[in-house]
Amino acid sequence: MQILPKLPYPDDALEPFVSAETLKVHHGKHHKAYVDKTNELAKAAGLSGEKLEDVIRAARAQGNQPLFNNAAQAWNHGFFWQCMRAPGGKVPTNGLSRAIDGAFGSLAGLKTAFVEEGVGHFGSGWLWIVSEAESLKVVSTHDADNMLVRAGLTPLLVCDLWEHAYYLDYKNDRKDFLERWFDNIANWDCADAQRAAADGEGPGYRYPSLTLAS
Ligand code: FE
Repeated sequence: MQILPKLPYPDDALEPFVSAETLKVHHGKHHKAYVDKTNELAKAAGLSGEKLEDVIRAARAQGNQPLFNNAAQAWNHGFFWQCMRAPGGKVPTNGLSRAIDGAFGSLAGLKTAFVEEGVGHFGSGWLWIVSEAESLKVVSTHDADNMLVRAGLTPLLVCDLWEHAYYLDYKNDRKDFLERWFDNIANWDCADAQRAAADGEGPGYRYPSLTLAS
């Protein structure tokens, strides 16, 4: 059974870049709905006892698209919450900074690539900064698709491109949302931990499991 993990910060922590109203609805309604539907469909597929990562891979392997969509959306949102932090946090340093400079020239170069990819992405989906073969790339995926089903790619950060992520705060201005998100609330500590995981130095993000009382 999958859970709805608590947000790692209060509803208003990302103001004014993501409003408390957006965060509350996004987490409490959208994410919750994906978790609830995943539990219903996983039960029908005999996958109730599996970790979410394994549910996602099994659903893809079995061609169970409804389960894949809901399970991957649950995972993507769980990771997305970790990919943000209150404004005023630190910028990339050390190894992460060097990796960004090596792939994009500078943090500004990464921002340009990130915003261009996100603005150019048609419809709903997710915008990722990923590690591949010791370099970094920006990629976008459609609908619920994620990096768990792409060999060799480790996500460092993800941003939600579905309109429910920004419409209340930015209306249709996805570019403004992405620029402000990147400059102010992207969690570079999360990106650094994920990069270390890609190098085999840590577990990386895993969706929280229900711990049963003994
Ligand atoms: Fe979302």
